[in-house]
Amino acid sequence: MSERPESGLSTRAIHLGIDPDPSTGAISPPIFQTSTFLQDDVAQPRNGYEYARCANPTRDLLQRQVAGLEGGRHAFSTASGLAAEDLVLRATLRPGGHVVTGTDAYGGTFRLLERVWDRWGIATSVVDLTDPAALEQHLAARDAGAADAGLVVWVETPSNPFLQITDLAACAEVCHRHGALLVVDNTFASPYLQRPLEHGADVVVHSATKYLAGHSDSVTGMVVVDDDALAEELAFLANAAGSVSGPMDAWLTIRGIKTLGVRMQRHCENALELAGWLSRHPAVTRVHHPGLPEHPGHRVAAAQMDGFGGVVSIQLAGGREAALAAARATEVFLLAESLGGVESLVVHPGEMTHASVKGTPRAVPDDLLRLSVGIEDVADLRADLDRALRAGG
Ligand SMILES: *Cc1c(COP(=O)(O)O)cnc(C)c1O
Repeated sequence: MSERPESGLSTRAIHLGIDPDPSTGAISPPIFQTSTFLQDDVAQPRNGYEYARCANPTRDLLQRQVAGLEGGRHAFSTASGLAAEDLVLRATLRPGGHVVTGTDAYGGTFRLLERVWDRWGIATSVVDLTDPAALEQHLAARDAGAADAGLVVWVETPSNPFLQITDLAACAEVCHRHGALLVVDNTFASPYLQRPLEHGADVVVHSATKYLAGHSDSVTGMVVVDDDALAEELAFLANAAGSVSGPMDAWLTIRGIKTLGVRMQRHCENALELAGWLSRHPAVTRVHHPGLPEHPGHRVAAAQMDGFGGVVSIQLAGGREAALAAARATEVFLLAESLGGVESLVVHPGEMTHASVKGTPRAVPDDLLRLSVGIEDVADLRADLDRALRAGG
């Protein structure tokens, strides 16, 4: 009864799969903080629940909510975003398999591929995925036999920290012609702004830690697929390898998602306004935000997203010292890793999120700051940044 696929996204975020508790009428769903369930007779679990690694009603609810928002038939909630990525790689690759990533992505994704999956015979290559012709050329050169052990193209759009945009429909077309599976990390957009399955992606992954939960109070991940056979494999592995989220984190994510619509609207408004203002600020040499008309991905983002997201990266005229000084000087923007919460955060990627790739081709410029623009009053955010940028000279 609460499944109304024709409703708008905000209505579905609040009601999808979330019926009031049948035994008490509680509007907010209970947290099923239990590891096991009473059986009616030997091997007779009630409603299919026997042990919480296999299934837990709180986790099931989150999975229905996110599947509905992403427009897929199956969702899996994991212990973290990286556990979601790991689950997808397990389900889709065999030794000899191959993953193609973009040039810009979450550092933990590169670490998982190059330092963990590499041990199991999975190779990774890097291609500029903002250019479908480059992907075409790369896949055409690899074709012979590679697909048997699994060939995965891993896209993050918008990407971290440069907010690069990949044209998902163009990328999906190239992938499917070459037998590759298209996986999209939709963390930076959230389903409120972008639903990759609609553009031909095969798998969506999330760090639900970020915008989905939205309050910097839990760590969880999500995997969403439409394909039944792939879903069966994911379900098998989630249980067999135990990558599931706990009921409390699942519940916090359910609660966060109910306000996803209003939060994303405000994140987008604030970020777009700050990006425009920063691009005219004398202390700033470059602003990376897909909402700016001069951003190379602006046209594609405007077509495939319903807003440009809440992350803005800037490069400063005063170089590294100015960036470090500004990161230390903000008061409303809190100096912390992560993103997607209601509070604004600032990081110096060179010394923080990307410190481990210093001196490698993946190193980021040291005059760069990444801002996760929160939902505070934008005048306060602007005043805070202005003060901090002036402090940096
Ligand atoms: C944070 C993040 C991850 C990893 O998620 P965790 O929940 O921290 O494990 C993956 N992808 C992106 C884009 C992220 O921002």
